[in-house]
Amino acid sequence: MAAVMSGNCVVCESKLVGGHAGWHSVCTACSYEGAALEPCINASVEAKVDEDAREIGLRQIRMENFRDLLDHIDRLCTPSQRKLLDVGCAHGWFLETAQQRFDVLGIEPDEFVAGRTKSRGLPVRVGFFPSVLDDAEQFDVVVFNDVIEHIPDIRAAIAAVHRHLGAGGLLVLNLPNSRGFFYRTAKLLSRLGWTAPFERLWQKDLPSPHVHYFDRRNLARLVASHGFEQVLSIDLPSVRAQGLLERIRCAGTSSTAGVYVQYVAALVSLPLVRMFESDIVVSVFRKQ
Ligand SMILES: [Zn+2]
Repeated sequence: MAAVMSGNCVVCESKLVGGHAGWHSVCTACSYEGAALEPCINASVEAKVDEDAREIGLRQIRMENFRDLLDHIDRLCTPSQRKLLDVGCAHGWFLETAQQRFDVLGIEPDEFVAGRTKSRGLPVRVGFFPSVLDDAEQFDVVVFNDVIEHIPDIRAAIAAVHRHLGAGGLLVLNLPNSRGFFYRTAKLLSRLGWTAPFERLWQKDLPSPHVHYFDRRNLARLVASHGFEQVLSIDLPSVRAQGLLERIRCAGTSSTAGVYVQYVAALVSLPLVRMFESDIVVSVFRKQ
C-alpha cells in the first residue's frame, strides 16, 4: 500500500524529494509534504470500527471547535448566504451544529457512516465530492473538516468548490498543520527511530490516510491560485484538558496504567504545547 513517492509539489510544482519514510516526500521550496498512501474506503470493516472509536473519542473537542468555527463563518456571511455544504460530514456533528444557523447538506463517501448519520435525520448524500452534486448546484459556504488532506487530486477538488460556490462564497478548510507541535515532535521521533507517532498522524494503514500536510503559507498559495482570497486563518486547540482522558483511551494503549501515565504527561505538557503553533489550522477563503 505504501508506494515510493515521486512527482512534483501540488503547490509550487518543484520536484519533491524523499522525506521521513519511503512513502513520504517533501518540497524543499515551499515546505509542502505529501504521502503515497492509498485510501480503501468501504473496504475494511475492522479498520473502520477502530477509526469510529477514535472519532467518538474526539467528539467533545470537535464539538467545541465546531461551535467556535461556526461563529467565525457566520460573521463572514451575509444574512442571505445560508446554503452550506459539508464535504466528508462523517457522523454529522458539524451538520448538527450548523443546521441551527444554515440550510445544510452533507456528503459522505463511507456508506456505513453515511447511513447512520442519515438515520439521525440529517441531510446526507452518499458519494464523493463533486460527482455526487448536480452541475448547477450552488452553495454559499463549502466546508472541509479534516477532509481536504485526504483527497489525492486536491487541485481538482478546489476548482470544483469554485464552480459550486455562489458570488462571494466561502471555502472553509479545517486541517492539520505541518508546523504544529505534535507533528514536529512525531517527525523528530521518527528520525530517532520511533516511527509509530509519525505513521499515526498520517493515518497510515487506516481506510482513509492523509496524503497532504500543509502549513498556512503553502495552503494559502495553493488555494489563491484557484481564484480565492484568504479572509481568515485561525488556530483551533488540538488538545483541551477536558476530554483528554477519553482521547488517550481511544488511541489504543494496552494497559490502564499506561493510559493514566500518558494522561498526566499530556496534562503537564499542555503549557509547552501552547508555545508552538496549533496542530489544527482553519483557513477561510472567499471566491473572487
Ligand atoms: Zn512546493
